[in-house]
Amino acid sequence: KLSNRLQKIASYITPGSRVADIGSDHALLPVYLLQSGIAVSAIAGELNAGPLAAAKKQAADAGLAGRLQVRQGNGLAVLQGDEADTVTIAGMGGGLMKEILEEGHERGKLAQVQELVLQPNVGEDIVRSWLLEKGWYLKAECILEEDGKIYEVLHAQRTSNAEQLNGALYDGSFLGLAWQKETTRALLVHMGPHLLRSGGPILIMKWQSELQKLNRICGQLAESELPQAAMKRTQIQEEIIKIGEVL
Ligand code: SAM
Repeated sequence: KLSNRLQKIASYITPGSRVADIGSDHALLPVYLLQSGIAVSAIAGELNAGPLAAAKKQAADAGLAGRLQVRQGNGLAVLQGDEADTVTIAGMGGGLMKEILEEGHERGKLAQVQELVLQPNVGEDIVRSWLLEKGWYLKAECILEEDGKIYEVLHAQRTSNAEQLNGALYDGSFLGLAWQKETTRALLVHMGPHLLRSGGPILIMKWQSELQKLNRICGQLAESELPQAAMKRTQIQEEIIKIGEVL
């Protein structure tokens, strides 16, 4: 059975899409997408030999070797021309995800892609910030807990009025705070505009644990004699106050 995390990713994909799953490992997601009829075709991209072999085996075992193309390569380099409407990238850090997206963008690999479904394990803010900068509309996002871990899934769409839609999404008027525009935007990029709007126990749990971490760092900085420690501590304290205000 597919994990809730991969299930959630699948639920965002527009039915009838040609999907490319980058960093696919065992290829569980593209196999499910083909079996359920959500995807009409699928490509599983993998950089490393071990996971590549696992993906090929999974495709063959599922009887999908003909419809699921398993390709070895770095990030979006596995795509040629107009092969995918939807790109999914899941289960890696936001920094690496941004590198893959950026390189793909520069090489024109995203030119025909209509939607991205991204599940960074950490560094979600890096991904949101990249999407915003490159004019992808953050249509939806969700947060879930599975096996003691918390995951965020981001659904971005190519649309001609992305800037306007993102502008409204990131203006944060729903928070009812008298902050500067840039401050509000930075916090929403950090925490997720849709996530903050809908709230819920998992979001609270995630940020309470983040606050604990930040408080611990503040405690350590208070004991440090490094010249930058006091300034860093003030910065973190301000961050703690802001997060506390929106939770
Ligand atoms: N996407 C699957 C999931 O969410 O369950 C697998 C996640 S797995 C933890 C990350 C996979 O990304 C690994 O199999 C790794 O080999 C692959 N990977 C790492 N960097 C990559 C890159 N630059 N291009 C393609 N695949 C990459």
